[in-house]
Amino acid sequence: MGGSLKRSTRFRGHKLGDGLWVIMNDIYTASLSRLIEEFEKLPGIGPKTAERLAFHILKAEPREAMALADAIKDVKNKIKRCEICTGLSEQAVCQICSDPRRDKSLICVVEQPKDVISLEKTGACKWVYHVLGGHIAPLEGIEPGDLTIDKLVERVREGSVKEVIMATNPNMAGDGTALYISSLLRAMGVKITRLARGLPTGSTIEYASGKMLTDAIIGRQELE
Ligand SMILES: [Zn+2]
Repeated sequence: MGGSLKRSTRFRGHKLGDGLWVIMNDIYTASLSRLIEEFEKLPGIGPKTAERLAFHILKAEPREAMALADAIKDVKNKIKRCEICTGLSEQAVCQICSDPRRDKSLICVVEQPKDVISLEKTGACKWVYHVLGGHIAPLEGIEPGDLTIDKLVERVREGSVKEVIMATNPNMAGDGTALYISSLLRAMGVKITRLARGLPTGSTIEYASGKMLTDAIIGRQELE
Protein backbone atom coordinates (compact mmCIF):
# COMPACT_ATOMS: atom_id res chain seq x y z
CA MET A 1 0.00 0.00 0.00
CA GLY A 2 3.11 2.20 0.48
CA GLY A 3 3.26 3.73 -2.99
CA SER A 4 -0.45 4.35 -3.37
CA LEU A 5 -0.70 5.83 0.14
CA LYS A 6 2.10 8.25 -0.75
CA ARG A 7 0.26 9.27 -3.89
CA SER A 8 -3.06 9.67 -2.10
CA THR A 9 -1.42 11.66 0.74
CA ARG A 10 -0.05 14.15 -1.78
CA PHE A 11 -3.41 14.42 -3.49
CA ARG A 12 -5.25 17.50 -2.19
CA GLY A 13 -3.40 17.32 1.11
CA HIS A 14 -5.75 14.74 2.61
CA LYS A 15 -4.89 11.27 3.77
CA LEU A 16 -7.31 9.57 1.45
CA GLY A 17 -7.42 5.84 1.03
CA ASP A 18 -6.49 4.43 -2.36
CA GLY A 19 -10.11 3.72 -3.27
CA LEU A 20 -11.21 7.25 -2.40
CA TRP A 21 -8.35 8.70 -4.42
CA VAL A 22 -9.65 6.90 -7.49
CA ILE A 23 -13.20 8.13 -6.78
CA MET A 24 -12.01 11.75 -6.45
CA ASN A 25 -10.09 11.37 -9.69
CA ASP A 26 -13.27 10.08 -11.32
CA ILE A 27 -15.31 12.99 -9.95
CA TYR A 28 -12.97 15.64 -11.27
CA THR A 29 -11.58 13.84 -14.36
CA ALA A 30 -7.81 13.35 -14.46
CA SER A 31 -6.90 16.74 -15.98
CA LEU A 32 -9.11 18.80 -13.65
CA SER A 33 -7.75 16.95 -10.67
CA ARG A 34 -4.21 17.65 -11.93
CA LEU A 35 -5.00 21.39 -12.22
CA ILE A 36 -6.38 21.42 -8.64
CA GLU A 37 -3.20 19.68 -7.48
CA GLU A 38 -1.02 22.30 -9.22
CA PHE A 39 -2.96 25.22 -7.67
CA GLU A 40 -2.62 23.63 -4.24
CA LYS A 41 1.17 23.79 -4.53
CA LEU A 42 0.99 27.62 -4.63
CA PRO A 43 1.62 29.53 -1.38
CA GLY A 44 -1.53 30.43 0.55
CA ILE A 45 -3.82 28.26 -1.58
CA GLY A 46 -5.81 25.61 0.30
CA PRO A 47 -7.89 22.77 -1.19
CA LYS A 48 -11.10 24.81 -1.45
CA THR A 49 -9.48 27.77 -3.20
CA ALA A 50 -7.60 25.40 -5.51
CA GLU A 51 -10.87 23.77 -6.50
CA ARG A 52 -12.53 27.18 -7.04
CA LEU A 53 -9.67 28.41 -9.24
CA ALA A 54 -9.66 25.21 -11.29
CA PHE A 55 -13.41 25.50 -11.94
CA HIS A 56 -12.94 29.16 -12.84
CA ILE A 57 -10.37 28.15 -15.48
CA LEU A 58 -12.66 25.42 -16.74
CA LYS A 59 -15.50 27.93 -17.23
CA ALA A 60 -13.32 30.70 -18.67
CA GLU A 61 -13.09 31.55 -22.37
CA PRO A 62 -10.26 29.52 -23.96
CA ARG A 63 -8.41 32.76 -24.81
CA GLU A 64 -8.51 33.95 -21.18
CA ALA A 65 -7.31 30.61 -19.81
CA MET A 66 -4.50 30.39 -22.39
CA ALA A 67 -3.38 33.94 -21.52
CA LEU A 68 -2.71 32.71 -17.96
CA ALA A 69 -0.81 29.68 -19.25
CA ASP A 70 1.24 31.91 -21.62
CA ALA A 71 2.02 34.41 -18.84
CA ILE A 72 3.41 31.58 -16.69
CA LYS A 73 5.49 30.28 -19.61
CA ASP A 74 6.84 33.78 -20.39
CA VAL A 75 7.93 34.38 -16.81
CA LYS A 76 9.87 31.14 -16.84
CA ASN A 77 11.29 31.45 -20.37
CA LYS A 78 12.03 35.18 -20.73
CA ILE A 79 13.23 36.38 -17.34
CA LYS A 80 16.95 36.05 -16.75
CA ARG A 81 19.57 37.74 -14.58
CA CYS A 82 21.03 41.14 -15.49
CA GLU A 83 24.72 40.68 -16.29
CA ILE A 84 25.66 43.75 -14.21
CA CYS A 85 23.50 43.68 -11.05
CA THR A 86 22.12 40.08 -11.33
CA GLY A 87 18.59 41.48 -10.81
CA LEU A 88 15.62 40.35 -12.91
CA SER A 89 15.69 41.30 -16.58
CA GLU A 90 14.36 40.30 -19.98
CA GLN A 91 17.44 41.77 -21.67
CA ALA A 92 21.15 41.16 -21.04
CA VAL A 93 21.22 44.38 -18.97
CA CYS A 94 18.20 45.36 -16.84
CA GLN A 95 16.21 48.60 -17.16
CA ILE A 96 17.68 50.11 -13.99
CA CYS A 97 21.32 49.45 -15.00
CA SER A 98 20.71 50.83 -18.50
CA ASP A 99 18.86 53.97 -17.26
CA PRO A 100 21.12 57.02 -17.90
CA ARG A 101 19.34 58.99 -15.13
CA ARG A 102 20.57 56.58 -12.45
CA ASP A 103 23.59 57.50 -10.33
CA LYS A 104 25.99 54.63 -11.06
CA SER A 105 28.35 55.80 -8.30
CA LEU A 106 25.83 54.55 -5.70
CA ILE A 107 25.27 50.80 -5.44
CA CYS A 108 22.53 49.52 -3.15
CA VAL A 109 23.16 45.90 -2.11
CA VAL A 110 20.10 43.70 -1.49
CA GLU A 111 19.54 40.01 -0.87
CA GLN A 112 16.73 39.23 -3.35
CA PRO A 113 15.18 40.67 -6.54
CA LYS A 114 11.97 41.27 -4.52
CA ASP A 115 13.88 43.73 -2.31
CA VAL A 116 14.68 45.86 -5.39
CA ILE A 117 10.95 46.08 -6.08
CA SER A 118 10.16 47.06 -2.44
CA LEU A 119 12.81 49.81 -2.49
CA GLU A 120 11.82 51.07 -5.96
CA LYS A 121 8.19 51.42 -4.83
CA THR A 122 9.30 54.13 -2.37
CA GLY A 123 10.33 56.30 -5.36
CA ALA A 124 13.26 57.52 -3.21
CA CYS A 125 16.03 55.62 -5.03
CA LYS A 126 18.17 57.09 -7.78
CA TRP A 127 20.92 54.52 -7.41
CA VAL A 128 21.69 51.17 -9.07
CA TYR A 129 21.54 47.80 -7.31
CA HIS A 130 23.48 44.65 -6.67
CA VAL A 131 21.46 41.51 -5.93
CA LEU A 132 23.40 39.01 -3.79
CA GLY A 133 21.05 36.07 -4.27
CA GLY A 134 20.64 35.51 -0.50
CA HIS A 135 22.65 35.96 2.70
CA ILE A 136 25.63 34.20 4.25
CA ALA A 137 24.38 31.38 6.49
CA PRO A 138 27.08 28.80 7.28
CA LEU A 139 24.62 26.64 9.26
CA GLU A 140 22.44 26.35 6.15
CA GLY A 141 25.52 25.71 4.05
CA ILE A 142 25.41 29.12 2.32
CA GLU A 143 28.97 30.42 2.02
CA PRO A 144 30.11 33.78 0.59
CA GLY A 145 31.09 31.97 -2.62
CA ASP A 146 27.46 30.99 -3.19
CA LEU A 147 26.43 34.66 -3.47
CA THR A 148 27.38 37.25 -6.11
CA ILE A 149 29.88 38.99 -3.79
CA ASP A 150 32.82 38.55 -6.22
CA LYS A 151 30.84 40.36 -8.90
CA LEU A 152 30.15 43.25 -6.48
CA VAL A 153 33.84 43.53 -5.56
CA GLU A 154 34.64 43.62 -9.28
CA ARG A 155 32.13 46.48 -9.81
CA VAL A 156 33.66 48.50 -6.97
CA ARG A 157 37.20 47.77 -8.18
CA GLU A 158 36.40 49.40 -11.52
CA GLY A 159 36.68 52.67 -9.59
CA SER A 160 33.63 54.83 -10.29
CA VAL A 161 31.66 53.73 -7.19
CA LYS A 162 31.57 56.26 -4.33
CA GLU A 163 29.11 54.66 -1.92
CA VAL A 164 27.83 51.15 -1.29
CA ILE A 165 24.53 51.11 0.59
CA MET A 166 23.97 47.83 2.44
CA ALA A 167 20.25 47.05 2.30
CA THR A 168 20.45 43.43 3.39
CA ASN A 169 17.67 42.45 5.82
CA PRO A 170 17.91 43.95 9.33
CA ASN A 171 18.29 40.54 11.01
CA MET A 172 21.29 38.47 12.12
CA ALA A 173 22.01 36.90 8.72
CA GLY A 174 21.58 40.21 6.88
CA ASP A 175 23.76 42.11 9.38
CA GLY A 176 26.46 39.43 9.19
CA THR A 177 26.43 39.54 5.39
CA ALA A 178 26.67 43.36 5.41
CA LEU A 179 29.66 43.24 7.79
CA TYR A 180 31.42 40.58 5.74
CA ILE A 181 31.02 42.58 2.52
CA SER A 182 32.06 45.85 4.16
CA SER A 183 35.25 44.17 5.40
CA LEU A 184 36.08 43.30 1.78
CA LEU A 185 35.25 46.73 0.35
CA ARG A 186 36.68 48.99 3.05
CA ALA A 187 40.25 48.66 1.77
CA MET A 188 39.07 49.90 -1.65
CA GLY A 189 38.35 53.38 -0.31
CA VAL A 190 34.59 53.32 -0.87
CA LYS A 191 32.08 54.74 1.63
CA ILE A 192 29.85 52.01 3.09
CA THR A 193 26.47 52.82 4.63
CA ARG A 194 23.66 50.71 6.05
CA LEU A 195 19.91 51.30 5.95
CA ALA A 196 18.97 51.47 9.59
CA ARG A 197 16.60 53.98 11.10
CA GLY A 198 12.95 52.96 11.03
CA LEU A 199 13.55 49.33 10.16
CA PRO A 200 12.77 47.09 13.14
CA THR A 201 15.57 44.67 13.98
CA GLY A 202 14.77 41.13 12.86
CA SER A 203 12.44 42.25 10.07
CA THR A 204 12.91 42.04 6.29
CA ILE A 205 13.03 44.61 3.48
CA GLU A 206 10.24 42.76 1.70
CA TYR A 207 7.68 43.33 4.47
CA ALA A 208 8.72 46.84 5.54
CA SER A 209 6.28 49.63 4.66
CA GLY A 210 7.20 52.26 2.07
CA LYS A 211 7.38 54.94 4.78
CA MET A 212 9.76 52.84 6.89
CA LEU A 213 11.97 52.17 3.87
CA THR A 214 12.04 55.81 2.83
CA ASP A 215 13.08 56.81 6.39
CA ALA A 216 15.73 54.10 6.35
CA ILE A 217 17.09 55.31 3.00
CA ILE A 218 17.28 58.95 4.10
CA GLY A 219 18.68 58.07 7.53
CA ARG A 220 21.30 55.58 6.36
CA GLN A 221 24.44 55.62 8.47
CA GLU A 222 28.05 54.89 7.77
CA LEU A 223 28.95 51.31 8.70
CA GLU A 224 31.79 51.36 11.27
ZN1 LIG B 1 20.93 45.40 -13.68
